[in-house]
Amino acid sequence: MYRTHTCGELRSTHIQQTVTLAGWVQTVRKFGAITFVDLRDRYGITQLLIGEELNILLDQNPLGREFVIQATGMVSERSNKNPNMPTGDIEIAVQNFTILNKSAVPPFTIQDDTDGGDDLRMKYRYLDLRRNTLKKNMELRYAVNRAARNYLHQKQFIDIETPFLIKSTPEGARDFVVPSRMNPGEFYALPQSPQTFKQLLMVSGYDRYYQVVKCFRDEDLRADRQPEFTQIDCEMAFIQQDDILEMFEGMIKSIFKEVRNIDYTEPVERMSWEDAMWTYGIDKPDIRFGMKLANLKFPAHAFLNKESAFKEDMFSIPALGGGGAETILAIAVPGCSEYSRKQTDELTEWVKRPQIGMKGLVFIKCNADGTYKSTVDKFYNPEIIKSIADAAGAEKGDLVLILAGAEERTRKAMSDLRLEMGKKLGLRKENEFKLLWVLDFPLFEYDEEGNRWVARHHPFTSPKPSDIETMINHDPQIANAAEYLKHPYANIKANAYDMVLNGNEIGGGSIRIFQRDLQEKMFAALGMSKEEQQHKFGFLLGAFEYGAPPHGGIAFGFDRLCAILGGSEGIRDFIAFPKNNSGRDVMLDAPSSIDETQLKELQIKLNLQ
Ligand code: ASP
Repeated sequence: MYRTHTCGELRSTHIQQTVTLAGWVQTVRKFGAITFVDLRDRYGITQLLIGEELNILLDQNPLGREFVIQATGMVSERSNKNPNMPTGDIEIAVQNFTILNKSAVPPFTIQDDTDGGDDLRMKYRYLDLRRNTLKKNMELRYAVNRAARNYLHQKQFIDIETPFLIKSTPEGARDFVVPSRMNPGEFYALPQSPQTFKQLLMVSGYDRYYQVVKCFRDEDLRADRQPEFTQIDCEMAFIQQDDILEMFEGMIKSIFKEVRNIDYTEPVERMSWEDAMWTYGIDKPDIRFGMKLANLKFPAHAFLNKESAFKEDMFSIPALGGGGAETILAIAVPGCSEYSRKQTDELTEWVKRPQIGMKGLVFIKCNADGTYKSTVDKFYNPEIIKSIADAAGAEKGDLVLILAGAEERTRKAMSDLRLEMGKKLGLRKENEFKLLWVLDFPLFEYDEEGNRWVARHHPFTSPKPSDIETMINHDPQIANAAEYLKHPYANIKANAYDMVLNGNEIGGGSIRIFQRDLQEKMFAALGMSKEEQQHKFGFLLGAFEYGAPPHGGIAFGFDRLCAILGGSEGIRDFIAFPKNNSGRDVMLDAPSSIDETQLKELQIKLNLQ
């Protein structure tokens, strides 16, 4: 037997017991004839006291950091108790110990505040995983997994595995492909998600399916993406959108409760995509704070009525690009009217950075005494300044920020600025969780390069029933690229929904098309010929002929959910063996070349450019 107890469980109630522990040497401290060793395992750290006699052995075989040892001894009361350690009241008076394995000097310290940089820790991930921080993350990940499974099991979902070696499933990324030795010249694709399989399972009658499953997407890795990641993937039959929303907000709430002991009792707010875009400038708003966008130009979305909407020439001021702006947006930042010149200059520089891309920023300071001070005082009389501030919903003491420019860019910039101000003011509190459903996404997105429509979610998402006619009766062809927004397809809404948590999209799904005709129409709208449809999705179209029930589903980004619940911005540290930003596993050094024999077997010749 290697051990009788773990390094995390002994307390003063164990005093006088003889125990055996095994673990890694965290530190060795020698005081004259005695030595203290902190012994660590997954469960904690226990102090070993090696007395005079054994010390001689130690002199011959010195212990180093990360040596694996086994020690037997008596649990004793410590003279110097450490209230910060769960085992801090006791120590083990070692009677004998064995070095089970030596360790090279680790390349970084295995402590909470390690001295190892990112790259080094990625290379020695197996050492990094010994650290408390990562260990906690792995435990949290497992807790989220367990909570999700428990909930879904209770609700009669069944976990069914789906294959990895498949044909392309379109989720908007490139496929990773795997050559087939037995079928030379042919390739499998790794699933971007189990989308088509879960729909086929509905046709098979498994009306509540789930899987905690790997998905593979070959896309340029923005800061916090991984080429392989995990989803909690779910599908249900005989349901409507509301059933899905209810079921899965239930799941997330139960995860909150199990993992963080948070009682999220209030209903989850629901908002249309259109409203999200105009109220927050983004389809995944952080609703932990207000600071909503006021549209100073389009009354439909403005706090203003039509008569008082601002004419575009009102903003023909240099700081906002000289006028004629398509969109003018404002936010009122609470309590910032006393910002100094330096602070406002910094904000202006911030919005001018290429990532934000605005020409300038207009300020109105709403002073405590009811007066206003603005960077555009000389262009407008005080009543107009006041009405702009009112339109932005500003109160005394607020600072109004105004941006103008092209619609999409201005909305995005204002959303970024709002989040930045929220962060500066401490409104994005780490321990506050706010869920939101965003509904009614557009069904199509315009692809400029191909001058065609692409599915915003994926091609299996159904249009809103009221929009089906429009889809069926109009030619998808876009005659005039500049006016694509006027094409009826631009306004077709989908039965699609996203779940947003603190400004992050944590899940998304849709009610699916389940009739062959409509699915064919959808494929055609995306520019797929009959032959192509048959080649790529013949199996699904075929299945729809054999009694496909109405169905829909959702998938949650498991890694991100864990990261948010763990109070972190990055998903990497919640994945045991992640890839770096160039999609490399630096520990394995993968991807890597394969040898000639393998290539020959696959009948593949490289033609590297
Ligand atoms: N397959 C979709 C995705 O991965 C989710 C869904 O529609 O259920 O985003």
